[in-house]
Amino acid sequence: MARTLLGVAGAPVGHSRSPAMHNAALAELGLDWLYIPLPLSPERFGQTVRALPGSGFAAINVTVPHKRAAHDLAGERSPAATAIGAANTLTFADGGVRAENTDAPGFLAALDHNPRGDRALVLGAGGSARAVAWALREAGAEVRVWNRTLERAQELASSLEVGVAERPGECDLLVNCTSVGLAPAVPEAEALEALRLTGVDAPPTVADLVYGAGPTPVEAWAGRAGSRVVDGLEVLVRQGALSLEGWTGRPAPLDVMRRAARSGS
Ligand code: NAP
Repeated sequence: MARTLLGVAGAPVGHSRSPAMHNAALAELGLDWLYIPLPLSPERFGQTVRALPGSGFAAINVTVPHKRAAHDLAGERSPAATAIGAANTLTFADGGVRAENTDAPGFLAALDHNPRGDRALVLGAGGSARAVAWALREAGAEVRVWNRTLERAQELASSLEVGVAERPGECDLLVNCTSVGLAPAVPEAEALEALRLTGVDAPPTVADLVYGAGPTPVEAWAGRAGSRVVDGLEVLVRQGALSLEGWTGRPAPLDVMRRAARSGS
C-alpha cells in the first residue's frame, strides 16, 4: 500500500524544520507516513492543494505566504480558523478540505503562562500576528498591536477587537510576529531599529516567532535584560504537535519533536 503523505506548503519552505520534526514524530509513533516540503508559489497554491489528496496526501501544514489562501480554499473551517481568518493546517477527508489554526493554541502552549490580565504587545500584522493577537485576547490579555504599516495594524485591531500601539513601549509580554530576524541575518541594532525597540526596556516575558540557527536579534535583546524568552522553535513544536494529534489521534511525542526541530535533522 502507498505511504500516507503529509507536508508543509510555503514559499520559501527550505528553512522549515517541520519535515525533520514531523518525520521524527511519525517514526516514534511507528507510523510509516512521510512528511515532505512543498515549495508552492501563490499562483499555484489552490490548484496544487486541490490535487494533493489524489496523490496520497492526507493533510498539510501551510506557512508563509499561504495562510489566508488556505483559510479561503477550505470548505469547512474550525471556529479558530474562522475568527483569525487564516489557517496553518489543512486536512483532506471525504473529498473535502478542512482548515484549522493550531498557531493560536500552539503559541499559548509554548508561552506556558496564563496571560490573563497581561498587557500584551504584538509586533506585526500578518498571519501569525492575527493568530497570536486572537489567542491572547481569548485568554484574557489586554492586547495592542504595533506594525510598521500602521493601516494594517488598524485593520487587524478592528477585526479582532484589540488595541493599536503607535510605537512599542511598556508592556508585560511582547511577541515578535514580524519576519524581522528571519534569514538573511541582520545586525541586532538594525533589527531593533526596524521594530522601533531601540532604547525600549524589554518586558518580563518576550516571545519571538522567528527561529533560526542561533538566538534571533529580539531574543538577544530580551536575554540581556533578563526577560523570560519563549523561542520560535518551541512555538513551532507546539503548533506542529497539535496538527499531528489531529491527524493521527495519538499524543504527540513532544521531546522527540523538540530534539528534531532543534537539530534540524
Ligand atoms: P507575514 O504575514 O508575511 O507578515 C510579516 C510581518 O512582518 C508584517 O507585519 C510586516 O510588516 C512585518 N515586517 C516585515 N519586514 C519588516 C521590516 N523590515 N520591519 C518591520 N516590519 C517588518 O508573515 P507571518 O506569517 O505573520 O510570519 C511572520 C514570522 O513569524 C515569519 O518569520 C514566520 O516564519 C514566523 N512564524 C513562526 C511560527 C512558528 O511556529 N515559530 C509560526 C508562524 C510564523 P508590514 O505589514 O509593514 O509589511
